[in-house]
Formats: sequence, structure tokens, C-alpha cells
Amino acid sequence: MRDKRIIRIRNPTLRQFRNNLRKLWLSLILNRNYQMKIKQEDLVNHSGGPFFRTKDHVEQYMNLKYSMVEAKRMGNYSICICPICFSHEEDMIWDSFSETWYCVLCHYKIYKIELSGGDKNRISRKKYNDRRHY
Ligand SMILES: [Zn+2]
Repeated sequence: MRDKRIIRIRNPTLRQFRNNLRKLWLSLILNRNYQMKIKQEDLVNHSGGPFFRTKDHVEQYMNLKYSMVEAKRMGNYSICICPICFSHEEDMIWDSFSETWYCVLCHYKIYKIELSGGDKNRISRKKYNDRRHY
């Protein structure tokens, strides 16, 4: 993949569709993590004594923990969310140096690049104003 690759969608309807798909993906990850957290709690001995009843429970607990971390990593390193500002509504840029997708504004902040007029118009006005004061 090239050093910098921007995925832009200019059509507002398509942007909304993309954003909804991103929200759906992220909510699936959150829901899956929540279900695994409940399973983890069921493995813990809440009646006092040792934290786990058996070694098998320890292994299951750790496997669930690993799966939860992996699911969170999948979400954070996907094109669906910016790992810095957690926006899921912006165009994203692939940064081959960090091997991460960033939103346009955060990427430009990292590399100290001035926003072009088109980028300023596409980034939500509130977000742009909030970020100007960093
Ligand atoms: Zn961002």
C-alpha cells in the first residue's frame, strides 16, 4: 500500500451510509466484548475463597480476555474509527509509517500539514473549531 492513501466520499448520502456501516461494525464489537465480559464474570468465584474454582476457569477467563483485547484492537486499527479522536464520521488516511488509519484532521495535525479548503469544508465545523485550539 502507498505511504498515504485517503479514502474520501464526497456524496452526503454515501457518507451517511458509510458512517452507519461504521457505527454498526463498532457496535457489534462493543456488544461482543460486553457478552464476553459477562461470561468472564460467570467464571469468577464470587462466594469468597479462591478467585477461580478450577484451572479450566482460569484458562477460559484468559482466553476471553485475549479475545476482548483482540476485538478492541480490530476496532481501533480499522478504518472505522480514528484512534486519536475516536471519530467515525470523517474521511480516513492510511499512514504506512504507523500502519494506522487516521481521520484527515488528526493526520494533518500529526504531520503539521495545513488543511486545504476542501478538507475544511468536509470536516464538521464544530470538530474543526474544537481542534484548532490544541
Ligand atoms: Zn481523528
